[in-house]
Amino acid sequence: MPSYAVQLMLSPVELGLFGKETIISKLLSALELVRFERCFLSVYGLDSDFVLELIKILKSHEVKVSLWTMVLADNPYSSSELFIPSNKFKNFKNLVSWKKMEEGGEQFSFSCPSHYLKDEKAVALSFDRARQLGVDSLFLDRIRYPAPSNGFEYFGSCRCSQCSGRYKEQYGKALPDMAENAALLAKDGAKGASLFMKECRDLIAFRNNTIYEICGIYRANAKKQGMEVGLDLFAPALSLLVAQDYKLLQGQCDFIKPMLYTKANAVAGLPLEFYVFVKNLTALEVPIKQALAFTSAISGLGKEELSKNMDNRTFEEALAGSEFIKAKSQCKKALQKYNNFLYAGIELVNHPAYETKISDRNCKNYLSSLSGENIAACWNLLHIPDKNLECMSMAEN
Ligand SMILES: [Zn+2]
Repeated sequence: MPSYAVQLMLSPVELGLFGKETIISKLLSALELVRFERCFLSVYGLDSDFVLELIKILKSHEVKVSLWTMVLADNPYSSSELFIPSNKFKNFKNLVSWKKMEEGGEQFSFSCPSHYLKDEKAVALSFDRARQLGVDSLFLDRIRYPAPSNGFEYFGSCRCSQCSGRYKEQYGKALPDMAENAALLAKDGAKGASLFMKECRDLIAFRNNTIYEICGIYRANAKKQGMEVGLDLFAPALSLLVAQDYKLLQGQCDFIKPMLYTKANAVAGLPLEFYVFVKNLTALEVPIKQALAFTSAISGLGKEELSKNMDNRTFEEALAGSEFIKAKSQCKKALQKYNNFLYAGIELVNHPAYETKISDRNCKNYLSSLSGENIAACWNLLHIPDKNLECMSMAEN
């Protein structure tokens, strides 16, 4: 039997929009419709009484509650220095990035990962909050390097002295500029991509290992307190771009939710991230054909589907199924060890602020591409229409 999870994101914005009573009744009706095993709950800026009431409802329905926790961006507990982008591509944040980046309270302003490695206070405060709320796990989000949607200058390493110092110490050489390498080598399409992988091999490993180490800090803390740690990861096709190596990370957590968003024109959505990445390359005078070939080679996606996305800003729902197969093949060890290690995250919302509207047809296509698999209903239960939950419940039975 597949296992189901659901995300519930509550902030003062949602509270103002829906009110406590509607939130509770929406939760209760969802729990009637689908037998959820896990809930990823984000509650920044809310009073504990209401949150505790929601957790009580979830627990009374035998739902395991994870505190959804921001790590390297928009983490209110962190006082780490900010990520310093490449100085060679200064204007990309405005030229080609996500226009809504700083709307709706989600800044996606990244911390320097090297500084974060020493930010014990931020980690401790997250666990304190989890204990106060009586939940049994942390669900770590934004545990990555910045995405294409942040702007091309953020592709690579933070350029601060600590990051370049750590790199020098580990690899005995100066920190290369990943964005500069990509811009230069993408002109040779697929051939350029293999050169890029060679040229940036150490930097790719450095970035992946840094994220692995940060997960390790949370994992060690969680173990001491008898808690679990889950990870909210980008789809495998995007993992190189954001330094989330599934093979490595499977050893550092208790469950993973790959974000397999084929429709969302928002951060982490495959349409937005690939559109922006390719657009950046073409803005740097890489011909579109080569930009697509380069992106295809480093992501594993087809040139044709990437090209269609440049026109239509969407992928087929079936991509969620094939990306999930990739995630499974990269997490073989953990899948042997845990019953429910992977949850395919699909965005089932009708979200006016992000213009993401999942129709009946989208929903059915998603569920058939992931037939028999564990699924997480994303991004936010409050914006998931009942008919999409009904569709899930039919798939369950
Ligand atoms: Zn740094």
